[in-house]
Parts: sequence; structure tokens; C-alpha cells
Amino acid sequence: MKTLRIAIQTKGRLNQDSIQLLSDVGIQLTQGKRKLISKATNFPVEVLFLRDDDIPKTVADGIADVGIVGENEVLEKREAVNIAKRLGFSKCRLSLAIPKSETYTGPIWFKNKTIATSYPKILERYLDDNMVNSSIHEISGSVEVAPSIGLADAIFDIVSSGSTLISNNLKEVEIVTKSEALLITNRELSNEKLYILQDLLFRLDTVETAKGKKYIMLNAPNLRLEEIKSLLPGMKSPTIIPLAKEGWSSLHSVIDEPQFWGIIKELKDLGSESILMLPIEKMIL
Ligand code: ATP
Ligand code: MG
Repeated sequence: MKTLRIAIQTKGRLNQDSIQLLSDVGIQLTQGKRKLISKATNFPVEVLFLRDDDIPKTVADGIADVGIVGENEVLEKREAVNIAKRLGFSKCRLSLAIPKSETYTGPIWFKNKTIATSYPKILERYLDDNMVNSSIHEISGSVEVAPSIGLADAIFDIVSSGSTLISNNLKEVEIVTKSEALLITNRELSNEKLYILQDLLFRLDTVETAKGKKYIMLNAPNLRLEEIKSLLPGMKSPTIIPLAKEGWSSLHSVIDEPQFWGIIKELKDLGSESILMLPIEKMIL
């Protein structure tokens, strides 16, 4: 049987969530994550651990079939890969930031300035689009300290909360692009590998559908059942089971967690008792 090889980050911000995602879809890995390759025990998949910078090319070249990597790396590396799914974690943005004391006048501010970045290609495209001529200084890490040591006038880097910028006396002035983790795939997968990929995508959808959903169970007096039912539309309609206690029913449904907080008081006021909320791991509609 063919095996689908998935490249994920060895360590760093994507590693934990990537392993968690595989575990959520029932893929258990044999060895510790420090090995270069780890085979799944129960699914035709093996995981290749790499630096995130190397994932787009490894997938484009077919050394790995699939990869989990930040959109920023995919945009920067410009390798020929397909995006099979946006995964919703490691959300961040790629922004231009300048010293706090400067007055920002729009993209023209960057004219003839030096910008330090680890993402020269994305930056170059932005500058071209805005017809601004700047000099790009490529560095691989600690970009945020570049202005304070006189290496650059500004930076172009990953931002999430913005606290790194603040502690380096910088301010974010342009969001150039947003990023999240992507599932990327090689463009020439064999039919056997595509088949495994389809199964993987189906499992990912199943986990995604269940996200934020809770299973709710409560006991309701029959006299108020219709009103309580109308508060809980469920996926199709709630399940109602008579209780041994005369005049009472048990009602089961699926709701969005935020919705629950909005109706809890009404449910209580209508006489609901023993309200239970249970997590849902997987959901197939
Ligand atoms: P490697 O050693 O694998 O090259 P790295 O140091 O380049 O790792 P990390 O800092 O681990 O990369 O970040 C990996 C990815 O996580 C980034 O490319 C980006 O997509 C995302 N990311 C980075 N910083 C943040 C953040 N502050 N919040 C959310 N996501 C982030
Ligand atoms: Mg990297």
C-alpha cells in the first residue's frame, strides 16, 4: 500500500498544532517527534519533520506529498504547489513597521529607505505594486532590532499581537498580507496518493464541523416543551425522550457554544433542569 508523506515543522510555532491536527483526525505517530521520519501506525501516512522554510520546495519537488506550513512561507518561496485547505491556526500578518517617533505619510514614506526582512520577495512585490523604490536588507532572524542598531530604517515582518513591535519602539503602519497555516500538496500526486489525501481531507472537515459545537442535554417539563424546543433548533430537530418522572422529557440537541450563553437564562426560566453540555469530537452531517 502506498503511503502519503506529510511534511511538518520539526519545532517552532507550527509544530504542536500540526501534530495535534494529525492526532485529531486519528493519525498516531510511532516514534518521537525528534526523528526525521515517523510512520503512522493506523493510517497510510508518514510524517517528515523539516524546517518550515524547506517545506514548500520539498512538497513541490515531490519529496513530500503534502505539507503543513504558513502561508507566508508559501507566498515567499513561490514554489508550484496546490493549496488543499486553509487550516485556521498560526494566524498572523506580514506588516511594515517604522520607528514610533516617525510620522507616517503612506507607502511613499519607504522611498529610498532600507527595510530589513526575512520575506524579500513578498516585500518586493508590495513595493513594486506601490511604485516605491526602497532597498531591501534580508536577514533571517531578529528583524525587529534592525532599526535600533542602525541596520535599517524600517522592518517588514510577522506580527500577531504587536507586542514585539511595541517593545522595540516600532509601530505597524501597513498590513501587506495575512497568513495562516495551509495544507499544501504536490501537483502530480498518483491516484493512490490522491485517494489517501481525500480521506485525510474528509477527516479534517469532520473535525472542523464539530468545532465550537456542543451536545446539550436537559430535562424539560412537558408543558413548556414546545417553547424550550424552539430555543434549541439543533442540526435538524432535537431528540425528545420521555423521562420516568411523569410530565417530564429529556431533550438532546447540538448547539454552537456562543449560542448556549445567550439562551441559558431562558432555558432555566422555562423550567429546564439538569442541563448538561458535552464536547463533540467529530461530526458528519
Ligand atoms: P524554523 O526553525 O522551522 O525555520 P521559524 O523560526 O522560521 O522556524 P517559527 O517562528 O516557528 O518559524 O514560525 C513558524 C510559522 O508560524 C511562521 O512562518 C508563521 O506562519 C507562523 N507564526 C510566526 N509567528 C507567529 C505569531 N506570532 N503568531 C502566529 N503565528 C506565527
Ligand atoms: Mg523558518
